[in-house]
Amino acid sequence: MTGKIEMSRPIVEMDGDEMTRVLWSSVKENLLLPYVNLKTEYYDLHVSNRDKTEDRVTFDAANAVKRLGVGVKCATITPNAERVKEYNLKKEWPSPNGTIRKILDGTVFRAPIMVSSVQPAVRYWKKPIIVARHAFGDIYDGVAIRFNEPGSAEISYKGRSGKDEKVKYPELKGPGVLLGIYNIDKSIEGFADASFKYAIMKKTDLWFAAKDTISKVYDADFKEIFRRVYETKYKEEFAKLGINYYYYLIDDAISRVIRSEGGFLWACKNYDGDVFSDMVSTAFGSLALMTSELFSPEGYYLSEAAHGTVQRHYYRYLKGEKVSTNPTALIFAWTRGLMRRGEIDGLNDLVDFSKKLENAVLNTIEKDKVMTQDIAKLSEPPVSKYVTSDEFIATVKKNLEKSLAA
Ligand code: NAP
Ligand code: MG
Repeated sequence: MTGKIEMSRPIVEMDGDEMTRVLWSSVKENLLLPYVNLKTEYYDLHVSNRDKTEDRVTFDAANAVKRLGVGVKCATITPNAERVKEYNLKKEWPSPNGTIRKILDGTVFRAPIMVSSVQPAVRYWKKPIIVARHAFGDIYDGVAIRFNEPGSAEISYKGRSGKDEKVKYPELKGPGVLLGIYNIDKSIEGFADASFKYAIMKKTDLWFAAKDTISKVYDADFKEIFRRVYETKYKEEFAKLGINYYYYLIDDAISRVIRSEGGFLWACKNYDGDVFSDMVSTAFGSLALMTSELFSPEGYYLSEAAHGTVQRHYYRYLKGEKVSTNPTALIFAWTRGLMRRGEIDGLNDLVDFSKKLENAVLNTIEKDKVMTQDIAKLSEPPVSKYVTSDEFIATVKKNLEKSLAA
């Protein structure tokens, strides 16, 4: 290769916390900067910087994605009481992912990165199950009250035109909690639209599941919007491709997912997607073998790793121990972001480089049998020894250089 690959426009880079922050910069330094004239607009979402800026940095980062179109994000701490103490924070700042998704809206697609040496825990699964998670509203933007005596409560709505509507909660018989959540039809339509489009792009069936038998207003709204979007926009195209749309009750869907052979897109409401994407990814091998990409209705794009900051490994790292944290999902967060930038800006070299880097990771695991501990213990045939994160990245680099030289 002669010279570095050029970029015309930057991508938004959101740095994060703990072990993933350490690996994020190692990936950048070893696998990107030597080959790409990397243009990024950098936002430091380290929890201390979020604290220092009163969380302004998170809002600025999300708005930068609106401006530049493409972003990549490292995992970040969502502070709880312990974290407030640990990092001496002013308060429990909200989840950065929640804030960012609220600003961008959209749907998060999580797909397993399948490698031949790791068999899914569910032995019927032969093909990937991709989870599409609605990234807006519900409990992630709810309001709540903790009450300490019997009482009453109601939800009241006031329309701009002055129209108002009220519903009472059942009698509150003693101390307890209550929650109010919402969603917006336009966002649900965007979620449905993105899901149907993605299914067409991948030529797979689409499943959507909710609990409209119990949640007769809320979940029924989701079900009806999916039906309408399908009937009016996608039915013909689905028929042409020989793929199908199915609505299931969520509990029915769970048992069908387990009995299936995979090979479909599963659209999930926000919380369902949060929970089931972790279940699906873990059952496919590891949280670190998963891509996570947000597509917004306006065309904004953000890729990230689906896992957290891997706190336990970080504490060992701080003590000077060598850790074996799997950087695959972090590498794929970068490659998908660069690929997207390259596709939008017509930079074939950048797209090609990103694909080569992904292949270098797959070759490291599948051909070289070089694995971090999370997948080494699942590998068939078994591997006798696992490598550190640094050794893993070094092998990826070697494979990348081989393929760039070819
Ligand atoms: P986690 O960071 O995902 O880690 C949970 C466990 O999963 C780890 O202890 C490790 O298991 C395994 N694991 C996760 N990623 C791995 C990787 N790349 N390689 C190898 N093993 C991996 O979840 P958590 O410990 O519950 O959360 C830590 C912090 O992350 C929290 O502060 C939370 O707020 C934040 N979080 C952020 C995001 C995000 O930004 N997207 C998502 C979730 C959580 P072993 O210890 O058994 O090896
Ligand atoms: Mg989650």
